Amino acid sequence: MRYISTRGRAPALSFEEVTLAGLASDGGLYVPESWPQLSVETLRSLRTASYVETAVAVMAPFVGDALSEDELRDLCAEAYGRFDHAGVTPLVQLDHRHWLLELFHGPTLAFKDVALQLLGLLFERFLSRRDMHVTIVGATSGDTGSAAIDAVAGREKIDIFMLHPQGRVSDVQRRQMTTVMAPNVHNIAIDGSFDDAQALVKAMFNDRAFAGRHNLSAVNSINWARLMAQVVYYVYAAVRLGAPDRQVAFSVPTGNFGDVFAGYVASKMGLPVARLLVATNVNDILHRALSAGDYSVGTVTPTVAPSMDIQVSSNFERLLFDLHGRDGAALEAAMQSFETAKTLAITEAQRAQAAHLFSSASIDEDAMALVMRWASAEAGQVIDPHTAIGLAAARLSDEVPAEVPVVTLATAHPAKFRDAVERATGIRPHLPTRVSGLFDREERFETLPADLKAIQAHIDAKSEKR
Ligand SMILES: *Cc1c(COP(=O)(O)O)cnc(C)c1O
Repeated sequence: MRYISTRGRAPALSFEEVTLAGLASDGGLYVPESWPQLSVETLRSLRTASYVETAVAVMAPFVGDALSEDELRDLCAEAYGRFDHAGVTPLVQLDHRHWLLELFHGPTLAFKDVALQLLGLLFERFLSRRDMHVTIVGATSGDTGSAAIDAVAGREKIDIFMLHPQGRVSDVQRRQMTTVMAPNVHNIAIDGSFDDAQALVKAMFNDRAFAGRHNLSAVNSINWARLMAQVVYYVYAAVRLGAPDRQVAFSVPTGNFGDVFAGYVASKMGLPVARLLVATNVNDILHRALSAGDYSVGTVTPTVAPSMDIQVSSNFERLLFDLHGRDGAALEAAMQSFETAKTLAITEAQRAQAAHLFSSASIDEDAMALVMRWASAEAGQVIDPHTAIGLAAARLSDEVPAEVPVVTLATAHPAKFRDAVERATGIRPHLPTRVSGLFDREERFETLPADLKAIQAHIDAKSEKR
């Protein structure tokens, strides 16, 4: 499998290259040249397959000859062996049509672990083949940071610098990053929003000299391998609910459009996805884009679902690429105007095309709290604020036929956001034992202004010492 850039000017790369590169050199994102197909027979055979076997079946065509099937299976077994549920991503039934897909049984209690545990192992494998060192720089609204740090802490050929918006991540999220004392882990709290942090990371990649000097690499959801790993659980859940002989809908709490794009990929591969509900909080750029064609940047409002406090959804570019007929030059022009004018026009034809699969909803804090209480009272499930936004969108939607089961992706463990959960439901979730002790450990991080030069100087200085 070859990968091409959404902006059409970067060279096509192999899976190994695309994994290590993250962002394309023309500023675009890599996507597979074509969508591999899962046949009806393959999908039926996966109904009784383990998570690891499902992962191998879904990912092998994307990985191509970068790993043998046995190597891929070994890496998946190692990555998913660190999850504390035998089903890795179990389904939980809420009522006659609503289900939760629990994606938070990994080491840092959010769905980001599903992709990042594997990505850490892929990096290690590919870097040791090349005897190469990389510096990962990333921006996190909370969960990517802890998951990426857990996945690479202590690994020899990797340093990681993680930027988080100061004061805008939960105490559990922050401590999961800042209490990791491995020498290759460097946390930076920036005085700004997640979008500021993400823009700084982009600027570091665009600074060719700096990127070259440090061999920069990305593990944000712009990294193709992450999306690929997330396609697996859509398939795993759908076949358990009757696919390919029955359609299934998914509701996805969305920020950077990575998780829901993986659902789109699953659909392109032949999974019968009736609908993808894009659930946002009040930071609703994606809802405005999909419902009204208005993709324009608003200001970020901090909410109790901080992993979704995003107004520029990087992965949306991958969908726009398809909506522009995979014309890289046309998309490049559109993205350039977006970067200067902060708004991008989506034509009615493009919007209508997206609407065949996608619907959207913006859920405010009251609706979120209401559904948290419903889940707790009616189904005995305490859910986190992000999951609640997805479930609220699922329960409010009138666009899914009544006979189609609706799976809400449960993206974080409620204990990760226990203050917000307690305020909404009166129940304070316990921290699972795997993270107990978090509040006794020392923290280590640097606080810097949201200024490119200051952050680059810090990374230069730290790397010098290593
Ligand atoms: C990252 C995250 C999201 C948003 O996922 P995207 O792939 O950015 O759309 C939702 N919920 C939680 C808990 C997250 O950590």
